[in-house]
Amino acid sequence: MSRVYNFSAGPAAVPVEVLERAKNEMLDWNGSGMSVMEMSHRGKEFVSIAEKAEADVRELMAIPDNYKVLFLQGGATTQFSMVPMNLLAGKNKACYVNTGAWSKKAIKEAKIHCDVTLSASSESDNFMSIPAINSWDIDQDAAYLHYTSNETIGGVEFQDVPDVGDLNLVSDMSSNILSREIDVSKFAVIYAGGQKNMGPSGIALTIVRDDLIGKAQVGSPSMMDYKNHADAGSMFNTPATYSWYLMGLVFEWIKENGGVAAIEARNVRKAQKLYAAIDASDFYANPVEVASRSRMNVPFTLANSELDAAFLSDAKDAGLVTLKGHRSVGGMRASIYNAMPEEGIDALISMMAEFERTKA
Ligand SMILES: *Cc1c(COP(=O)(O)O)cnc(C)c1O
Repeated sequence: MSRVYNFSAGPAAVPVEVLERAKNEMLDWNGSGMSVMEMSHRGKEFVSIAEKAEADVRELMAIPDNYKVLFLQGGATTQFSMVPMNLLAGKNKACYVNTGAWSKKAIKEAKIHCDVTLSASSESDNFMSIPAINSWDIDQDAAYLHYTSNETIGGVEFQDVPDVGDLNLVSDMSSNILSREIDVSKFAVIYAGGQKNMGPSGIALTIVRDDLIGKAQVGSPSMMDYKNHADAGSMFNTPATYSWYLMGLVFEWIKENGGVAAIEARNVRKAQKLYAAIDASDFYANPVEVASRSRMNVPFTLANSELDAAFLSDAKDAGLVTLKGHRSVGGMRASIYNAMPEEGIDALISMMAEFERTKA
């Protein structure tokens, strides 16, 4: 069997140690005689798996006690709706920062529920930078301010948590959660789909401050109300049990690898190496402002786009797959989440150099 280095933006690579463990436990989890996917979510075995996953992510992110951790379905996209439905709490406006494709989707969904104040946008800059915080229009009367901490498609990332004063701060961290240390206490809500940095799709992690729960818009469907999920320990309906279990294995893997600080240091090294290789070449280019570059998603173009297909084919031959850029951006994109080992970056850099040497 030969494993490739998978640079997919999502669903994305999962640590091989996690997959090995899931394989070993597939038919008989811990002497239960059954697979985790066959277990009742109410049984003591699955409840122990669920509780351990929550305890581990609380430890990894140092989540304060006054926050609930929810394991929800419907991906990050459902959170685009749940956030306004739960946080407006009688108000009719929310602030959004537009830094790219995922911000736009969140904004579009919020507009179904309230007026949106565009606090900042980098659209005029073709989304190549994060707008400087001192230029933001922050309306303290809004219910909250929402931003996308890492734009998976454009490859731009916030390097700091924006200071919005007393306003409730909400972040879509789908593509950089657990890749860097953050202070959860600065946030009202953090949410992220599972399939970038936490394992498989089918599950989203939502971290909500206690005082914001129980204020869902009247008439909200039960599944959209954070309170129902919080009161039921994320078992208001049948949860995505197998995805929850795998997410828990990823949390254990991060702990075994030194926690978020150690993973972050490794992510910094990985990204620096790859950007340095791109910047040192006249053949490859990354258009993003240096200070706003993502550590997780690295888009790059070839000087001659007619060589794109040949590049992808050579990459595939070298065991490097899913490097094609998003259809809206073109070129290439290397997604290098927590699960991408440093060897994968080294292999990509040497393949790029060899391609440049022979084809450029
Ligand atoms: C992938 C992604 C989403 C959408 O996630 P789904 O699980 O498909 O709903 C939202 N925001 C960001 C930043 C993403 O990368």
